[in-house]
Amino acid sequence: MKRSFLFGVLFALSGCGSDTSNNANNFIYNNVNNDQAIVPVPDCAISSELIEQAINDTGDTPKILFEKEGMKISDGQSAFFDFVVPPNTKSLTIMVSGKDSEQYNVGSWRNGDRKDLVPNNFELHPAGICSDCPNRIRFTSGVGLAFAPINQDVEIKAGCHTASISARTAGIKVLASEADIIVYAHRFTETPTAKLALNFHFSGADGLNAESAKTSTSFQNDIKKLKAVLSQAKIEIDQTDYIDIDSSFQIIEGGEPDLMKMYRTAKATGPLGDETIRGINVFFVDEILTEDGVPFVGISGGNPGPIIGGTAQSGVAVAMKKSDQIPASRGVVLAHEIGHYLGLFHTSEIPILRLHDQISDTNDFDESLLLHWSTGVQDSPGETLTPNQIKVIRNNPWLRY
Ligand SMILES: [Zn+2]
Repeated sequence: MKRSFLFGVLFALSGCGSDTSNNANNFIYNNVNNDQAIVPVPDCAISSELIEQAINDTGDTPKILFEKEGMKISDGQSAFFDFVVPPNTKSLTIMVSGKDSEQYNVGSWRNGDRKDLVPNNFELHPAGICSDCPNRIRFTSGVGLAFAPINQDVEIKAGCHTASISARTAGIKVLASEADIIVYAHRFTETPTAKLALNFHFSGADGLNAESAKTSTSFQNDIKKLKAVLSQAKIEIDQTDYIDIDSSFQIIEGGEPDLMKMYRTAKATGPLGDETIRGINVFFVDEILTEDGVPFVGISGGNPGPIIGGTAQSGVAVAMKKSDQIPASRGVVLAHEIGHYLGLFHTSEIPILRLHDQISDTNDFDESLLLHWSTGVQDSPGETLTPNQIKVIRNNPWLRY
């Protein structure tokens, strides 16, 4: 009973623009088993010759640094593994994929200077977030991503990194499980303008399909608004695809399982997928409801979302149905969700959670910010991205230079 309730809250927190403060009063703080002996992070096991070889790679080509299928997880955590990070690495993504019924992320992560990005045996905030980790992470169902740098204070150090992965259900460590790991180093030469592709998926919500949306004035105004908001970060949407999906997705009423089913209908786009159809998958539905009927104006598959399409969390969804709950511009809601998908957390969560982001130039409870929790349910939603937020999202592998 406790577990399913907490899961409900966790799901609620990954959605946007719904006041869950009443539920939040009932938080259960489930954490690691403190009786368990903590295995310290070992020294790097990679030979100094191999490290030197990797360090000499000074190019700007992205690369996969580590890949493993079926990594065993016992008592919530896997064995430690090493990978060598080359110079010129702008961002690192660790993607952990497993079962829909479990939540994943790293269990620890040590930088190239052997300082912790994610400390071993960290405490998990009830929102499924390691809020005190130098590099914040959030556990998400089916697929979880750790992304660095997630704030202005983190610097990726070239050299040997050591990490482990972790599986949880409702915040509690899973006794026995396994998951797949990919570590991706994003390297590029930055230009002033970054490009982003988007794939728009239509369920028939608001009477729109792939054909009619191209000429719908209200939909195209939403896209104009989205472009205007992203232009603050000099991000240009250079490619859009319009795709029809099954009308059964018009109303998401079963919560996360229904969302996962919908996200999986998309093709394997993205940095790890098909380059020719590269684009973050965006789904337009009428309503997004938890299984308890709590509505959301939008939701993202993570902070950030997966770097390949077609997984359980590969997309963002936006509710099209107008209501008192949803007075805001859908273009702003869309920009907010894409902000999450590219790596941003809410600048401030609902007050009861006492949780703010790690970005130093975002004021607490500032409603003029795009990533404030209530964007989408205010009459005049915030649209501002700050310089330090822009730094984070421009390093995301979905952006092209
Ligand atoms: Zn949000």
